[in-house]
Amino acid sequence: MTLIEAKYYNSVDSKTHLVQIHFDQDKLYILENEKTKSVSINHCKFETPIASNPMIVELPNNERLEVKNSTLLVEELKRIGHKKSFASYHIETNTKLFAVSVLVTISLLVVFIKFGIPKMSGTIAMHAPSSWTEKLDDHILSDLDKHVFSESKLSDETQNQIRHYFFKQSNTEANLLFRKGNQLKANAFALSNNTIVITDELVHSAKNLNHLLAIYLHEYGHLQQKYVLKTIVSSSSLALLSLMLVGDLPGLSESLANLNFVLLSRSYSRGYETSADDYSVNFLNALDKSTRCMSEALLVFKSVHKETSENNMIIEYLATHPNIDLRIAKIVKSYPLDKSCQVATLPMTEDSTSN
Ligand SMILES: [Zn+2]
Repeated sequence: MTLIEAKYYNSVDSKTHLVQIHFDQDKLYILENEKTKSVSINHCKFETPIASNPMIVELPNNERLEVKNSTLLVEELKRIGHKKSFASYHIETNTKLFAVSVLVTISLLVVFIKFGIPKMSGTIAMHAPSSWTEKLDDHILSDLDKHVFSESKLSDETQNQIRHYFFKQSNTEANLLFRKGNQLKANAFALSNNTIVITDELVHSAKNLNHLLAIYLHEYGHLQQKYVLKTIVSSSSLALLSLMLVGDLPGLSESLANLNFVLLSRSYSRGYETSADDYSVNFLNALDKSTRCMSEALLVFKSVHKETSENNMIIEYLATHPNIDLRIAKIVKSYPLDKSCQVATLPMTEDSTSN
């Protein structure tokens, strides 16, 4: 018979009673000063201890036992064939098992972050109702209008001519908006629903409408891939995960409050950029337009941003973007003999307030 030391709290007084316990097949015996009390094992609830805390045994009538030597208690329960599984107890008390379980948990977490989150984000992005994404776009756009953009100085006529040219040439119809980019200079952005924003500065720098069309198709590719939404969902999921793991709520609120930053920092994968380039190039090719429109547009983009590299945001933008030279080289390699991009221009009328 194995006797185990325990502290006993009964329902009569509030004292701690130092007792000894032992088991037979279906009973737990509590020995105190030659008095013995027995309880059916089926009426005892054994709680798995955390780390080196004592094991708590809940008894009927709100009585309980605290057993410091929980290893001995678990062995005794095993000996009498008690059904309760102490798997997590064994893991916590066995260093090797504990190390293995930590490693398995970390590996599962890494796999989830690397594959699970992108897959989940993709599924959510592809099935998100357009009522959500419209609201999201309104939120992002009003934030950008407040902090970054100002009203376009292009006349309505010019804006409509550009829209008409793109839609007619490509048979696509995005919600194409124009804004003065200010510190973002010549740029274009796809939002999450069906909106593309092109800056006045990009319209002025590109000059050739077919270069602009190539960039529009690149952004249209992002819309088709639901690329902004995927990025937002995955960065929010990561923030949520960190909330669950380390309770970092500020991380979550920051990430949700700065949705527009997700868009502007462009910290997306190179894969998304390359596939949006491919989308544009293949589209141009299908329209019987030269793929050089895209590579030349990238050259325009590169030269504009070289001049403005003193602007931190632009440096960050270019730094997180795949190397433009590599992107140009990829297009030229795919279509080595393609003709140069045909020039198309519109009379760009502007408001007199334009600078
Ligand atoms: Zn892009």
